[in-house]
Amino acid sequence: MFIEDIRTSRRKIPLHTPFKTALRTATYIESITVTIYLENGLAGRGEAAPTWVITGDSSESIQAALEGPIKQAILQQDIRHFQSLLVAIQNSCIGNTSAKAAADIALHDVYSRWMGVPLYQLLGDYQSLKTSMTIGVDDPKKMAKDADKWVEKGYTSLKIKVGAKPELDMDRILAIREVIPSEILLRLDANQGWTPKQAVQLIQEMERINAGIEFIEQPVKANDLEGLKFVTDNVKTPIMADESIFSPQDAFKIIQGHYADLINIKLMKSGGIYNALIIADLAMVNQVPCMIGSMMESSYSVGAAAHFAAAHPNVIYYDLDAPLWLTEKPEVIEYQGEKVSLSTGEGISGVDK
Ligand SMILES: [Mg+2]
Repeated sequence: MFIEDIRTSRRKIPLHTPFKTALRTATYIESITVTIYLENGLAGRGEAAPTWVITGDSSESIQAALEGPIKQAILQQDIRHFQSLLVAIQNSCIGNTSAKAAADIALHDVYSRWMGVPLYQLLGDYQSLKTSMTIGVDDPKKMAKDADKWVEKGYTSLKIKVGAKPELDMDRILAIREVIPSEILLRLDANQGWTPKQAVQLIQEMERINAGIEFIEQPVKANDLEGLKFVTDNVKTPIMADESIFSPQDAFKIIQGHYADLINIKLMKSGGIYNALIIADLAMVNQVPCMIGSMMESSYSVGAAAHFAAAHPNVIYYDLDAPLWLTEKPEVIEYQGEKVSLSTGEGISGVDK
């Protein structure tokens, strides 16, 4: 069963609320769709969104990689060589992890459709999922108000963005802690906004006042692995690597040197599900639990990430709220408060295309 055609398209999706982190403020996203057609007419779809400040990919570069080297690597190839095709996508060019993720997702979609099962079933499990809700970085009062609103709506996990104007971070945590119940733990994400010493000082202070922090994501610059290790070694709170880990090789290095306690896997960084599975397996062998996260992406690619997370026993934290920030109605994923459900139909969306 041969791959007969591969096509791409692009759309803009506005956010209903600006998304603020230490790295950027987003008011809209672009999503690039790739569709892989088999000779029998069956089609599989993948998507990717660019994040200049993290992956370095743009809409134009994603589309160019998909229509250039990636297409060349898998066009006219037999889908029965599924694993080899996934590897061919990874080897088709250097970098371009978002474009590779889109193609990898589309291949997983069409292959699970061809098998006649939902993607999570192809991957082998279905654990129930509930997402955290992100509180964008802002002044302490505004963040406390947002946190209160989402807890009122039933969310039991909040992800608090910090690291922009770090001198406000303690006040942010104190303001949020004041309005939400103590049993709700906070996950912090500094998005590389702290220096190693600043991170240790802030986290030790949070520990001293029992601020109820579950873990802290990416305290320092992505490439400052020594700084990351300094933080991990000098605080009790678990430290999660996000921007420091793209590939399985990155994960291997972080795990082997114990640079962090936890890993945040995102398909746009890993280049898709194939590498995400390797990272999750590698981490499991070394007793390092993982979170599934996403960039600001469409519900379709976040849905693909949710299929992967539902199927892997070492993915135990879920950060899948990006689609709730978009004006486009979610597809693939259904949200009931923090509960996330997936379609039980074939492939990723369960809908014919
Ligand atoms: Mg993060």
